[in-house]
Amino acid sequence: METRRSKRGRREANPSSEEEEHVDTDTCRKKKISSPKLDFFDALPDDLVLSVLSNLSSAADSPSDLIAISLTCKRMKELGRNEAVLKKASRKAVSIRAEKWSEPAHRFLISCCDAGNIHACYFLGMIRFYCLGLRGSGAALMARAALGSHAAAAFSLAVVRFNGSGGPAASRNPRAGFVLAARAALLGHVDAIREVGHCFLDGHGAPACSSLGRRFLVNASARELLAGSSGSGSDPTWILEDRASDPDPVNGFIREWFGSASDADGLRMCSNGGCGRRETRKHEFRRCAACGRVNYCSRACQARHWSDGGHKDTCREVEADVDAWAPDGGDVGDVDGSHGGE
Ligand SMILES: [Zn+2]
Ligand SMILES: [Zn+2]
Repeated sequence: METRRSKRGRREANPSSEEEEHVDTDTCRKKKISSPKLDFFDALPDDLVLSVLSNLSSAADSPSDLIAISLTCKRMKELGRNEAVLKKASRKAVSIRAEKWSEPAHRFLISCCDAGNIHACYFLGMIRFYCLGLRGSGAALMARAALGSHAAAAFSLAVVRFNGSGGPAASRNPRAGFVLAARAALLGHVDAIREVGHCFLDGHGAPACSSLGRRFLVNASARELLAGSSGSGSDPTWILEDRASDPDPVNGFIREWFGSASDADGLRMCSNGGCGRRETRKHEFRRCAACGRVNYCSRACQARHWSDGGHKDTCREVEADVDAWAPDGGDVGDVDGSHGGE
């Protein structure tokens, strides 16, 4: 412990130390006051910081980008939870991996949904519906996203209504499915455009009109070709939801979630690898009528798996009636469209 004498002795040995201390303190204070690094951020008004945070949030590549921002200081942590920031969070910013799923992650998505973020509504809606078995709240969140012109959400609801997912087979509603698919198609969703084409071809949920159906199928193929040839650099405004070039993160989440237990309880996954949907009751999905070895949640998935997934090379009876597609349960009155070859 330093005694008073030793302090006095030190002062006597260096009489100017006390004066220097004052000078140093004053200098530091002056530095603090004049330092632009320390004061510039504090002087910024909240609305300006929120504006910057919102822009960062809308361009974030992953949820960790948002977390990193909130960890910088207390003020950023508080402002990072602001509704304006959460509402603008990008699709990637709310796309949590299944292995990272936790109660805080769930709460984060709920906060984003409450703020009006349609990507979060769709993402959490799909998780609740397919992974957590919360059909009502999951469908409600998807509907909220669809009302906000989220094309993938509208198409997912269409698949739910076509299949009667979450209910008995009798709850299938092709008409409602067609209306939702048409809404998603108008928003540029390629799978939805293809689904609408099949509906017009065979009159499933829509008046039969083969010429109109073919136009939709050609339109879907053309968009895929253009998206594939243009690369990720260009961004035609009408290709909004092309899953071939930009896979939907929620499909990956569902696949990860079920993992090796995908076929447990006799409930099967959609055979299209990029889909991830799982049956909500036995025999919900339809099987390939030619080989009977693969199952699809929708004709759009069948078409993708036929061309992109290579099923056209592995299907045992390619030469058979490629337009036949029978449901597992033998409900031939509700047969969906073609075999996917266009
Ligand atoms: Zn599927
Ligand atoms: Zn097959």
